[in-house]
Amino acid sequence: MPHAVSDPPSPAQEDAAMADASSPNTVEAESTPTTSNANIETNAETSNEEAVPVKVEQASSPPWVAEDDDDDEMAEEATALAAAPAVTIKTEDGSVKDVLAATAAVKTEEAPASGSIAVKTEETEKAAIITDTVPVNLEDMFDDMDDDDEFSGKPAQETLTTTSDLLSLKASDPEVMRSFYQRLFPWRYLFQWLNHSPTPTNDFAHREFAFTLQNDAYLRYQSFPTSDLLRKDVLRLMPSRFEIGPVYTTNPAERKTLSNASAFKALAKELCFDIDLTDYDDIRTCCDKTTICMRCWQFITMAVRVVDAALRDDFGFQHIIWIYSGRRGAHAWVCDKRARSLDDQKRRAIVGYLEVLRGGSQGGKRVNVRRPLHPHISRSLNVLRTHFQEDVLRDQDPWDTPERAEKLLNLITDRNLADALRRKWDSSPGRSSTAKWADIDAVAKTGSVKGLDLKHLLENKQDIVLEYTYPRLDVNVSKKLNHLLKSPFVVHPGTGRVCVPIDVNRLEEFDPLGVPTVQELLQEIDSYSQNSGANGSDDEPSQNKNGAGGDEKKLQDWEKTSLRRYIEQFRSFVLNLMKDEKDVIRVKRERDEATSMEF
Ligand SMILES: [Zn+2]
Repeated sequence: MPHAVSDPPSPAQEDAAMADASSPNTVEAESTPTTSNANIETNAETSNEEAVPVKVEQASSPPWVAEDDDDDEMAEEATALAAAPAVTIKTEDGSVKDVLAATAAVKTEEAPASGSIAVKTEETEKAAIITDTVPVNLEDMFDDMDDDDEFSGKPAQETLTTTSDLLSLKASDPEVMRSFYQRLFPWRYLFQWLNHSPTPTNDFAHREFAFTLQNDAYLRYQSFPTSDLLRKDVLRLMPSRFEIGPVYTTNPAERKTLSNASAFKALAKELCFDIDLTDYDDIRTCCDKTTICMRCWQFITMAVRVVDAALRDDFGFQHIIWIYSGRRGAHAWVCDKRARSLDDQKRRAIVGYLEVLRGGSQGGKRVNVRRPLHPHISRSLNVLRTHFQEDVLRDQDPWDTPERAEKLLNLITDRNLADALRRKWDSSPGRSSTAKWADIDAVAKTGSVKGLDLKHLLENKQDIVLEYTYPRLDVNVSKKLNHLLKSPFVVHPGTGRVCVPIDVNRLEEFDPLGVPTVQELLQEIDSYSQNSGANGSDDEPSQNKNGAGGDEKKLQDWEKTSLRRYIEQFRSFVLNLMKDEKDVIRVKRERDEATSMEF
């Protein structure tokens, strides 16, 4: 690479960074945050892609000045967490106030149109007495894994409607949604994912679900003892989507019956991250607002790389799944037990650790990282450098016109150098962004710019690379234990696409526009039954574990469609998570038994 950005700090410098820079960022009060402000947190309780960005009113004394101090402190804590990934993080008490404040500000909790919402007393009572430790034989647990019979009892109508009809229907059409939830949605794996065991526990029963109904009514605090009851309610209410919230101390559906309101609080939830292309509108040139293409999707690809590496290498998390949000972004769910029990303060600390861009897009230079570079920033730069050359300079060409080139010149801190570059580009117009980026070093090398500090220029260029490539997180999704996030595998009502997992090992292959729509999937089921004929001889490999058995197991509908590989990916993720939880429980039990013998 021709440019001079790549000088890595020496190991000694990195050590120094570890020792002294508690956070990768320098916190500078001059930046103008429009996000990461306490004022807007309550408005962003649910992650809604369609939501109009919340305007933050400028308070007379800027609230972020104080908050930045907090961030520094918390980032120190995050560095401590990062340095000791194997240590179990204890949940601390004291989040009651946060929970109540946040829930109070959330949209309607009883929707006006929800007359049909019956309180399921019998079921919820059952849920309340389920304990966390139902003994399960490990072998049985995995033998049973593929058995989805409990859901295939009621055969749906064989073909839905004619193919042409299907494709002309909207994704939100009730008939389409019913067929999807009935035939394609992976209820069993969703249940096992949230329950961490094949037999129902409070991890599932005390989990909040929130439904967005077709009339946009929003129902919070729904809970279900089993996945079958969740499925039944979804089929009855036919929400256009549903979200997943935390596990509470008690059954969320019964929270109002508690005599002591403070007894109801959020205990655990996956640590989540949200990256959305709308936050890149000031630097992507190919699309804007709700449109995306493969070129701008690369911003998500590079963001996933950087965040995923930090979560695994710096924090030691293992069970991370990335989910396509259905239109223009991706969500990460960190499912390790240690991550699920993080309190709000620790979540904010991790966000502080990861956050590098501060302030809104109109606020000028947003990156001010400390030197020597924090190891996380060095590693991120190594990942991002190629993306910057190819995906940003070559494919986005963000500084092609003189007007756009002003943005680059504004980011160059040496005014003499910026002026020299402006003169050069004025005299030879039409230079590409790649050429303009190379011009920075070329002009610097001529020695014609008075008092130019080359070390400072290198750092300045690193900051610009970060500004154009570093992940832009919607931090409100990550900061709070009780934040709700759209469930994997629901359908995005605008695009009809299913929110499928993204395979981080084959990240560059993921094509958001190639993700199947619900209408296409239903059509695939129809074509499958037409092709396989009346005798039902399926030529695809069945999941039947003993193929010699004679009674060939009937294929699930999702196995007949292009959703199959995504569900299989999710299934193996869930299986690994459950295995790990099992081991943790077993080790703990053995240790407890051992200590109980020691007297
Ligand atoms: Zn694009």
